[in-house]
Amino acid sequence: RAKAQGPATLQMFNKEMSTRAAKTLSLQNRLRRAIDHGELSAHYQPQVDLGSGEIIGMEALVRWNSPDLGMVSPADFIPVAEESGLIDGICEFMLDVCATQNKEWQKQGLMTIPVAVNVSGRQFQYARRLLSACERILSVTDLDSHWLELELTESSAMRDADNAIAVVNQLKEMGIGCSIDDFGTGYSSLSVLKRFPIQKLKIDRSFVMDITTDPNDAAIVDAIVAMAKALKLKVVAEGVENQEHLDFLRTLGCDQIQGYFFSRPLPAEAMGQMLSERRRMDLKPLTPNWMMA
Ligand code: C2E
Ligand code: MG
Ligand code: MG
Ligand code: MG
Repeated sequence: RAKAQGPATLQMFNKEMSTRAAKTLSLQNRLRRAIDHGELSAHYQPQVDLGSGEIIGMEALVRWNSPDLGMVSPADFIPVAEESGLIDGICEFMLDVCATQNKEWQKQGLMTIPVAVNVSGRQFQYARRLLSACERILSVTDLDSHWLELELTESSAMRDADNAIAVVNQLKEMGIGCSIDDFGTGYSSLSVLKRFPIQKLKIDRSFVMDITTDPNDAAIVDAIVAMAKALKLKVVAEGVENQEHLDFLRTLGCDQIQGYFFSRPLPAEAMGQMLSERRRMDLKPLTPNWMMA
């Protein structure tokens, strides 16, 4: 078939391939420079407890402001960073910035809550570097390890569960807690999940998005919350964008939420402001279940 279409198709195919490869390469080169040139920063998104309405934690999200590309989404550059090995440097940058910032907020007398940094599966695979980076950064910043947490996606956790469990255990010994991120997308078995010494499950945003209209999504979230309770884990819903999402999650017994409804990810200064005001979520009384039908 390729022959029938002639060499033009083949040429186009090659050209497209090499364009893509060139794009990846230039992104890689730019990213390498970005780390050294201070183009990366951390934004923080608060997590709210649905019992008290208080901020009880925050997730750190990397941001890249490139002088020639503008803001680049982590969805676009994290995969490139993983392939090229630059992810280790990015993670160490994030650990460093987040630990330093957390310590600084404590020094300013602001409300003290843990910060969670995302890690990639690759870093768990070769965990020695991650473990020694955590150790070094905690010692340099003099931050108590309980204020630092890590997030690992369910799919990376399950890819080599035995190894991941061992790493989570080592982190736990250092006082660093772990959450499983994007939960519901990675095919965990309950028997494997219960061996993970984690604290939290984070329900993937894709299930929360249509929770009020799609009975399948509602059933999945209901099951995840029940499972988390059975395993004595906290459960956080990601991507909570409106009051309807919030109310639905509360009736299902979800513990915590994170999403645009309470706050977008914020630059450090705005997050510090939120902490200094001890901003809370105004939780209206719930409509009882029997009235919603
Ligand atoms: P994630 O860890 O699941 O982070 C949550 C993502 O959902 C963030 O996207 C956040 O901005 C977004 N989000 C939060 N609330 C809402 C909401 O209500 N609605 C919608 N539509 N989105 C919401 P972001 O910052 O673009 O990050 C995307 C992904 O990139 C992250 O997903 C994480 O997997 C990865 N990532 C981000 N920062 C890092 C990092 O420092 N290291 C690593 N390894 N991965 C990172
Ligand atoms: Mg995350
Ligand atoms: Mg997530
Ligand atoms: Mg995600």
